[in-house]
Amino acid sequence: MDLFEYQGKQFFAGYGIAVSPGEVADTVDDAVAAADRLGYPVVVKAQVMVGGRGKAGGVKLAANTAEAREHAEFILGLDIKGHVVKRLWIEKASDIAEEYYASFTLDRAAKKHLGMLSAQGGVEIETVAEEDPDAIAKIWIDPVEGLTEAVARAWVEEAKLNPLANDGAVELLQKLYTAFTDGDADLAEVNPLILTPEGKVHALDAKVTLDDNASYRHDWAEYEASQVRDEREQAAHDKGLQYVGLDGYVGVIANGAGLAMSTVDIVNQVGGQAANFLDIGGGANAEVMAGALEVINNDPTVRAIFINIFGGITKGEEVANGIVTALGRVKIDSPIVIRLDGTNADQGRAILAAHESESLVSKPTMLEAARAVVEIAGKR
Ligand code: GDP
Ligand code: MN
Repeated sequence: MDLFEYQGKQFFAGYGIAVSPGEVADTVDDAVAAADRLGYPVVVKAQVMVGGRGKAGGVKLAANTAEAREHAEFILGLDIKGHVVKRLWIEKASDIAEEYYASFTLDRAAKKHLGMLSAQGGVEIETVAEEDPDAIAKIWIDPVEGLTEAVARAWVEEAKLNPLANDGAVELLQKLYTAFTDGDADLAEVNPLILTPEGKVHALDAKVTLDDNASYRHDWAEYEASQVRDEREQAAHDKGLQYVGLDGYVGVIANGAGLAMSTVDIVNQVGGQAANFLDIGGGANAEVMAGALEVINNDPTVRAIFINIFGGITKGEEVANGIVTALGRVKIDSPIVIRLDGTNADQGRAILAAHESESLVSKPTMLEAARAVVEIAGKR
């Protein structure tokens, strides 16, 4: 789950990381009132989950009430790379001496946490990585040892920040690492991390992705409530399905994330385009299948549906009965192609064969099913 900047800063503040005071505002009047309360100058910042807001005109300094109003009016409703601004963060403006970059992510290949620090902040890190890769100091942190002060200091020195920033950076990075690990984040990024003329180091921006699998350990209800999903994704989420909307026209239902990804791939490989990724998980029972079919059926771009199930613990005949029951419950507008394999596939296929029609086709392999579904979709 991605957080908005203001939520990321809330999250940081919970771990003692220095951020600027500020307030959320959803209207121009609220923004102006917040700015007046905070005292000028303030920064008016668009809250959208996309980077490069500054360049797009979504981050503006205001020196007085009139400017705060002008900027709030301009930024609310602004379209930033397809994200319309509905909420502002009004923050006390900081004086900036230097802008740095800092982040923690998980390096899955190394099985360690990766820290990146650069004296070239405030710009896109991808650009720095391309043009001047040596300007990014990387460390791989042993998850058992954690980020000790000695390691943090060596890292900060390697990044060649202004030496005035070193103590503050060491302290902030250690707190950021604690936020990243204890807070169960997949990403904690600060760009820019600033040094003020008074020698203070603090986080001027926040990009945080939380690990949804850890949500049971935290109270993330507020973050969860403000998530922005497209209509299809919201419907799937409400049913507890793992769903990602895509741009194609073949609806995909599979059990297991790996199989669902392979299904999207094979649809594309045979010349089609998947409308979605949908993993119904291990227990492919009638209720889950009906829910999945409903979500796919409500997607107007879908022209045909590919159900790809590999029976494991859930046996083939249970899956087949589940599909048949689900089809009895939900009226589906698009033809369906099913590939059923795995445990008791023969029994399952026999059940499906009894219901076979022009709009319900069963194929024994993934490739044949993919070809069939793309061909059927092409005719509609
Ligand atoms: P992004 O463009 O979406 O990454 O938004 P940021 O929050 O990183 O802001 C973009 C840029 O605006 C920063 O790199 C700063 O240069 C500038 N900026 C943001 N807040 C302040 C502030 O409090 N004071 C000053 N002087 N500049 C700011
Ligand atoms: Mn930024």
